[in-house]
Amino acid sequence: NIEGASSSNFKRKPVIIIVVGMAGSGKTTFLHRLVAHTHTSNIRGYVMNLDPAVLTLPFGANIDIRDTVRYKEVMKQFNLGPNGGILTSLNLFATKFDEVISVIEKRADELDYVLVDTPGQIEIFTWSASGAIITEAFASTFPTVVTYVVDTPRAENPTTFMSNMLYACSILYKTRLPLVLAFNKIDVAQHQFALEWMEDFEAFQAASSLDHSYTSTLTQSLSLVLDEFYQNLRSVGVSAVSGAGVEAFFKAIEASAEEYMENY
Ligand code: GDP
Ligand code: MG
Repeated sequence: NIEGASSSNFKRKPVIIIVVGMAGSGKTTFLHRLVAHTHTSNIRGYVMNLDPAVLTLPFGANIDIRDTVRYKEVMKQFNLGPNGGILTSLNLFATKFDEVISVIEKRADELDYVLVDTPGQIEIFTWSASGAIITEAFASTFPTVVTYVVDTPRAENPTTFMSNMLYACSILYKTRLPLVLAFNKIDVAQHQFALEWMEDFEAFQAASSLDHSYTSTLTQSLSLVLDEFYQNLRSVGVSAVSGAGVEAFFKAIEASAEEYMENY
């Protein structure tokens, strides 16, 4: 009994899953896959879209920033470019986020998960005040887990792998929430190499020494630092396209939600 075992006052459900990752890593496609999975497995989920600039979504969002904020008009009204427009739209939405939280609270008994899609450009959510406000609003009300989606075929390059791990690491330290790494696109490239690099930094150093760019020395030193980070997260290989790994992903989310209940 998780509720009984926990000293916190948080409700067990729903678990909030905030999905972040580099543009093109497959966040939206992965969310679509997760939504399809919930429909066929009696999991009750809500989907929230926080990307004001997305034109079409492959899934129907229960809560959509575009219903509240008109991105194009925000750009015009404040004379902003695309990124400024997205950021300002997110700021406007963040000021009303208590209303969003209460909508979810009202449905809490009927929901197992709330899946949250974030803007294409990762830093707009992860390095903005409104991203922090939204994350904090979730995490102070419900068990909240961050999922960092990695483009696995691209991460076969050691320097790209390292950039992703540093980014994921910075998100862990900024949010202090349980983190699940989802190595996506395993239909194209298996993520075994990544697990090996995370388990054994010498294997990673051997791979990155093949790359003679000047950054490879830096990359090798950083791998030592990241060793500690790797101990503190869960990794799963998934394919948003084939559906591989989705059950393992939900298991990792469950374990992370329990970690949340024990620690926050
Ligand atoms: P986002 O910017 O992170 O939301 O990424 P998208 O979901 O828009 O996906 C970016 C591109 O990657 C699209 O062309 C997707 O079809 C493709 N993609 C996403 N997931 C997978 C996957 O699991 N396997 C393959 N082969 N392609 C994928
Ligand atoms: Mg997207």
